[in-house]
Amino acid sequence: MISQNTLPIPRVRPPAETHEHAWLVESRHPTSEGVVLYVRCGDCGTRRVDLQSHPHTPPAALSTEAGAVRG
Ligand SMILES: [Zn+2]
Repeated sequence: MISQNTLPIPRVRPPAETHEHAWLVESRHPTSEGVVLYVRCGDCGTRRVDLQSHPHTPPAALSTEAGAVRG
């Protein structure tokens, strides 16, 4: 008999979301708003840009729109 209580198996999952990224800092650049961290996942190669406002706070992910700064 087929059980009706089984949970549906998600078949479509982006590869980047299937594991906890192991962020490696490739470079860091001090700015007036904090330290910008360029990080890359050592497992899947996903890149991200973080902003660490203070040395003792965890960095926050910047959106991809962060580069569009108007002068
Ligand atoms: Zn990853």
